[in-house]
Amino acid sequence: MTRSRTQPEKNCKDCRGQHYVLKNPAGRVQAEICACFQCEICGGRGQVFAEDETGVSFMRACECAGLKKRLDSFNNANLPGKYLETQFDTYHPIGSQANKLALKTARDFVKDFEQKPQSGLLFMGTPGVGKTHLAVSILKALLLEKGVNGKFIDFFQLLSDIRHGYSQDLSEQAIINPFVHAPVLVIDELAKGRNTEWELTMLDQIISNRYNAADKVTIFTTNYTDEVSEPGHKKKSKDTHVEFSRNDASRSWAGEETLEDKVGDRIFSRLAEMCRFVKMEGDDFRRSMAGKSSPRSSGPGKKH
Ligand code: ADP
Repeated sequence: MTRSRTQPEKNCKDCRGQHYVLKNPAGRVQAEICACFQCEICGGRGQVFAEDETGVSFMRACECAGLKKRLDSFNNANLPGKYLETQFDTYHPIGSQANKLALKTARDFVKDFEQKPQSGLLFMGTPGVGKTHLAVSILKALLLEKGVNGKFIDFFQLLSDIRHGYSQDLSEQAIINPFVHAPVLVIDELAKGRNTEWELTMLDQIISNRYNAADKVTIFTTNYTDEVSEPGHKKKSKDTHVEFSRNDASRSWAGEETLEDKVGDRIFSRLAEMCRFVKMEGDDFRRSMAGKSSPRSSGPGKKH
């Protein structure tokens, strides 16, 4: 019996029946069709003959072309190579209930993606709690499983690319347009840096364009929270799963500046309209894993 696209090699140790494998050939995560996958319908040409109702033959895309299209789109997503292994299954929600809820929110976001117009997500929390891990997992799943187009950008990197573009006579529009127009965009490390007037103007251009388009979904990560509590008091902030207080060790995460302080009220109010805020907390996973956790750390294995 011949093996077609609909009869994948589930036992393939490389792709486990997914038809594609991910690699990091040059600092970017790239997807390619797995060697186990042979389309018996088109023989790999991507096109097949078909006939219309009058018996006239024409060429049409083979059903396997959808897979190639998805992988092409994935390969244009600009995902840095360090996210090769990043996916929902490799996220272990240690630390707090908030992180469990954040994982569930992220998974549900993918699951429900077609069913209703989605608002975006804004993952907030201390460095190393897995905000980027979840944002990247969402993007990968949407691109590879749902065939959605999308891109990833580290906001700091984008600013640096724009500056570099000036020296090559490239306008800022030429650099930011692919990100402005991406149906799904992950902006990592929102508000990192000095947030000069120029930096905020660049951010405003992206956010305003995406906000006005109304059919674009944006997922952000930031080390800043949306609210500072009074000492000793706990406040619940917008749309959050978590209570924060200044006594909480996590309060030290970005000094006392809020996200609104960093980006200004205009951008902040757009963010609040475009996104659901998802709070995460806990120790820096990198440090925990390296066994160099801070004194408040309880180690990666401990359940909270
Ligand atoms: P953040 O964006 O919150 O600063 P990252 O998502 O970049 O943190 O996480 C830093 C590193 O730790 C990454 O390699 C990430 O995959 C890993 N990591 C963070 N939290 C977890 C977790 N709960 N389970 C597995 N890996 C994690």
